Amino acid sequence: MSQPKYFLLTPGPITTTASVKEAMLEDWGSWDDDFNQVTQEIRSKLLKTANAESSHVCVPLQGSGTFAVEATLATLLGPDDKLLILMNGAYGQRIAKICDYLGRPYTTIDTGDYLPPNPEAVRKILENDLSITTVAIVHCETSSGILNPVEAIAEVTQSLGRRLIIDSMSAFGALSVDASKLPFDALISSANKCFEGVPGFGFSLIRKGLLKQCKGNAHSLSMDLYDQWIYMEKTGQWRYTPPTHAVAAFAQAMREHEIEGGTSGRLARYTRNRDQLVAGMRDMGFRTLLEDQWLSPIIVTFMSPEDPAFEFKHFYQELKHRGFVIYPGKLTQTESFRIGCIGQIDTPQINQLLTAIKDVLAVMNVDMSNTEETIQ
Ligand SMILES: *Cc1c(COP(=O)(O)O)cnc(C)c1O
Repeated sequence: MSQPKYFLLTPGPITTTASVKEAMLEDWGSWDDDFNQVTQEIRSKLLKTANAESSHVCVPLQGSGTFAVEATLATLLGPDDKLLILMNGAYGQRIAKICDYLGRPYTTIDTGDYLPPNPEAVRKILENDLSITTVAIVHCETSSGILNPVEAIAEVTQSLGRRLIIDSMSAFGALSVDASKLPFDALISSANKCFEGVPGFGFSLIRKGLLKQCKGNAHSLSMDLYDQWIYMEKTGQWRYTPPTHAVAAFAQAMREHEIEGGTSGRLARYTRNRDQLVAGMRDMGFRTLLEDQWLSPIIVTFMSPEDPAFEFKHFYQELKHRGFVIYPGKLTQTESFRIGCIGQIDTPQINQLLTAIKDVLAVMNVDMSNTEETIQ
């Protein structure tokens, strides 16, 4: 297969291999044993990736990642539950929005655009408000790229006997998740991020003992992960039409994930991409939003140059012509843009990207001598 039209340096969908795309050339019967085996294979491999085979179950759900987040909240939160949402960006805000729709009570610790939640502040709130049963956190908050301290938060929630739901959409598969060290009740991700599959479904790893108690919580039939789980255990099939081609592509993507060395192999490549990207961009005079300790190997936010000659839309179009699709910023305070490190991208592509950016800055006549400082 030929080189892609352009590389997606975005938070997903991302650039996939030719072999993952080729896995979609077959049609599958959704009730057939062959397809059921593929579903079984990915469910058990996902649990294995999180070292959660004995404690959790994997429930996939048709739709994008948000569908899986909403379904997990709808299924796990009963009428007597209250959620504490640790919010520092768009995806934390989305969890609150989902709770508004579900009519489930919640409270938040909102640390703004780019600051991590403080585990001690979380401890205080949980000690003072005994009605909070569950905490939700975003693993990598893709809107800034910050890597949130999920291990420290899990320690607090576990020590205070609360449940933890992790939106690990843009982290699982590249950042280590070990249920024996990172105690979680549900962890949500999707096919088209760090596992490098195509879009079509999400999944939730849910503590088995908890899910067993969740019958009747969900407000919606198609979002009921308890029902989806029971049906899948009984029949080996998805309730309702599964995204067969996306599932077959994902099985291939998981094989390639293993060949790369699993989570640690993938993390090594993404980290290499990030380090090369950040060093090259800083050489040109760009500044990162976050200081080094918070930079994720998933996506990096760069501040736009001060020079009014820099206009994001123009910059975007010029880069697209040169074979790279980047992502707009999502900050409320500062002009910024984002570049992803995930997907089928490696050293040669980052090199080409940096050359292309240099070229575009020259074409746009941008003066890089006066850029904002990294926020400390
Ligand atoms: C991508 C992403 C989602 C889900 O987004 P969809 O567009 O619904 O697939 C949720 N949370 C985070 C942190 C993400 O990066």
